[in-house]
Amino acid sequence: MLQYLARGAGVRESLRDELERFYDAIQQAVDTGNPEWLDPLLNSWADAQTESEPGVIMSGTSAFLAELLLESQRFWTETFQEQESLEIVGALLPLFTHAFEQTAKRELTTRMTGMQRELENIRTTLAQVEKSKADFISVAAHELRTPLTLIEGYAAMIRDAFEEPGSGGTTTPLVDGIDNGTRRLREIIDDMIDVSLLENGLMALNYQPLWLNGLFRTLAAELSQSVQVRNQRLDFSEFSGSQELTFGDPERLFQAFRNLLTNAIKFTPDGGRILIDGRLLPGFIEVTIKDTGIGIDPEDQMRIFQKFAQVGDVQLHSSGKIKYKGGGPGLGLPITKGLIEAHGGSIWVESEFYDEVRCPGSTFHVLLPHRREPPDPVAQKSFQSMIEQRQSA
Ligand code: ADP
Repeated sequence: MLQYLARGAGVRESLRDELERFYDAIQQAVDTGNPEWLDPLLNSWADAQTESEPGVIMSGTSAFLAELLLESQRFWTETFQEQESLEIVGALLPLFTHAFEQTAKRELTTRMTGMQRELENIRTTLAQVEKSKADFISVAAHELRTPLTLIEGYAAMIRDAFEEPGSGGTTTPLVDGIDNGTRRLREIIDDMIDVSLLENGLMALNYQPLWLNGLFRTLAAELSQSVQVRNQRLDFSEFSGSQELTFGDPERLFQAFRNLLTNAIKFTPDGGRILIDGRLLPGFIEVTIKDTGIGIDPEDQMRIFQKFAQVGDVQLHSSGKIKYKGGGPGLGLPITKGLIEAHGGSIWVESEFYDEVRCPGSTFHVLLPHRREPPDPVAQKSFQSMIEQRQSA
């Protein structure tokens, strides 16, 4: 029996002791009528089994108990008369039932504790990976800025040295090429820095009084050429909330809405329409940017706000700024979301499905707090007289 129950010669001696302790405990439990005499020993078995290397002691305490019960029963049947044997079984069965229950409970608790510990380790590792990723982005972005400034400087010097202003010299297209490349690279680096600022909670907003209609008119003017190139229409309906004074960081809001609008241009086929609309809600101004583009599948609608997330075939993505379906590094929407949330707002998208032929369109909703004064006390002081004037008006 010992040979069967234990694996490895070294274990047999200690197993003999364990069995003696087990049968002593059984004796105590029978004498006192209290099965809990078995618990300390069963607990130590269950703990040792789950904490040890698999197979070193035994293959599961419950299995071990089952084997023990079978072997004991074989022994009683061979040794005692039928009636006596039945009486023993009658007395011992409740004890074994208790032993099974206790072991199962203990094993489960120990396993759960082990799994929780492992989960905690995985969580710590993941947090470390996230942190190294953020550190890498921030270091890489800052390191790339210096050589980029050098290239931009040399390109400007070439232009100065070889070209008369407006002469259209032979080097012009070459230097224009360098300029385009460096501008795009700078945009990507700036995006990387913004992501790392937002992720580390270091994005400082410069709250100013603003009217969203002014911001959208400026944006529409800036994008009018791109819209024309794509034969699209960009309309801004002067909705009520857009005429209200509110406080926000104009530059950062401009950046956030420009991202949404350039996406709308990119993911809408030539000839499509983009509409900036919204409404005034109690305490909030809602802005909607609706396009007649290719749409976004519901299962991707959360993912697109995560950094580096791209939907569809990544290979097809080009880096065109307004080119149809031209992709970027996948940082635009995470930055937009971060900027809106830094303002205390929220952003989400509505779209029925993705279909490049039927073009169901997408609507991005942005909810911004309607602030009648800036949230930080320093800015509040600077705009105090203006706020008071408006309140008395
Ligand atoms: P990028 O444009 O750099 O790829 P973004 O974060 O701006 O990254 O957008 C992520 C993805 O979300 C895009 O690649 C595109 O698949 C999808 N997307 C964003 N805006 C729209 C839109 N208006 N219509 C359809 N798809 C969109």
